[in-house]
Amino acid sequence: MSGINAEKQRVFAREVVSRLQKAGFDALWAGGCVRDQLVGRTPKDYDVATSATPDQVRQLFGRRRTLPIGASFGVITVLGPRGAGQIEVATFRSDAGYSDGRRPDAVTFSDACADAARRDFTINGLFFDPVTGKVVDFVGGRRDIEAKIVRAIGDARERIAEDKLRMLRAVRFAATLDFSLDPATQQAATELAADICVVSAERIAAEIERMLVDPHRVRALELLRETGLLVIVMPEAAPLVEDVRRWNATLAVLERLDDPSFGLALAALLRGVLSTAPVGDASEQPRRRRGGPTSPVEQLVDAVVTRWKLSNATSDRTRWLLENYATLAQARQLPWSRLQPLLTHEFAGELVGLSAAVLSAVDGDTTQTEYCRQKLALPADQLDPPALLNGGDLHRRAIPAGPAYRRLLQAVRDAQLDGVVTTKAEALELVDRLTDADTNNECNNAR
Ligand code: ATP
Ligand code: MG
Repeated sequence: MSGINAEKQRVFAREVVSRLQKAGFDALWAGGCVRDQLVGRTPKDYDVATSATPDQVRQLFGRRRTLPIGASFGVITVLGPRGAGQIEVATFRSDAGYSDGRRPDAVTFSDACADAARRDFTINGLFFDPVTGKVVDFVGGRRDIEAKIVRAIGDARERIAEDKLRMLRAVRFAATLDFSLDPATQQAATELAADICVVSAERIAAEIERMLVDPHRVRALELLRETGLLVIVMPEAAPLVEDVRRWNATLAVLERLDDPSFGLALAALLRGVLSTAPVGDASEQPRRRRGGPTSPVEQLVDAVVTRWKLSNATSDRTRWLLENYATLAQARQLPWSRLQPLLTHEFAGELVGLSAAVLSAVDGDTTQTEYCRQKLALPADQLDPPALLNGGDLHRRAIPAGPAYRRLLQAVRDAQLDGVVTTKAEALELVDRLTDADTNNECNNAR
């Protein structure tokens, strides 16, 4: 959340625990925030677990400063002062039965030990008392953090069978924390990989997104491949994971991306998938036609975007990057009027990033993308000079409005970028020549 000050957030999280304790309840920080501080990361948010019931929590902090959004699971949101964010205060609970393979059928309030046992991995099952500074560990989480292991609490197969999302969470935590995956937990995920399909598309996509934008994305992909989860969540990747050379080349590209958006990282992965596709029919059109997707890029992007219910923004970005990155491999040989529109596009930086990653992974020669980067660094008025003409100029020339405007303005823009015309007068002369040529053609055609 924006506008949050990490120190204020932490002070408030400590205050919430201290107030609960002073009122006679057990209260501790729980889960991710404890793990994060033990591995030396600043927690994104703080969760408090307590013996107080939701009603007692609301009574203590006041109805105006609490929200009962998750009350049926025993969770009350306590609102902090400005900059301190909000804290989720959850009553200690055990989860009973998981008949849908994803969410508990019912929760019952319990104690800290049972609350630790219902959590997914030992590293996520820790508590911390911010008043005394003591870690409370019922599940061996501290030892696993020291040993850098992601291990299911209890029987790995049972725990994954009750909530299939844990397979992706296991991979994500192992990758992003740079931990190993406990062999029993990895084996359970491998055996149950096919069941990941009971998890909603949005949750799958959210996990994959967090893995792909993380600096450890290559490790995440390796684990997704080893467990077999990748080809379940993305069946199109099946030929890629079989082809060791192309798989490694794809990882080499992903490795080289610097702080990518999800759209960019996905493009890099899908580029690998496309590299294994049979060579398309030569008659296939690279551009979209009305009435449905046509090019291999579009078909692939559409399939993944639809399955994972991705946003239009991500989908547009991924598609545009895939359609254009290869062009930059000839950047220096291209007319400026061809290259410039790519380099002034909203995603130009990521396009150069993808192309550079590919070129560097393939043969290490990035002179073409270095050239692009130099161009990107030009002052705005040089990279993207104002147009010499606009529609009004054509109108004043008594050219009838219509599709010709776009074509003429584009021709003038290309000529301007390529240095063929440099002034408005020259641009207008070019328009006259082009419209004369059109008129002659029409006369010839009419004869
Ligand atoms: P992050 O927020 O960085 O993903 P986190 O550990 O805080 O990490 P959350 O999804 O915010 O993860 O969940 C908070 C805590 O709730 C976890 O640390 C874990 O103890 C528990 N938890 C979350 N999801 C599950 C799950 N699917 N099964 C069991 N316990 C879970
Ligand atoms: Mg969290």
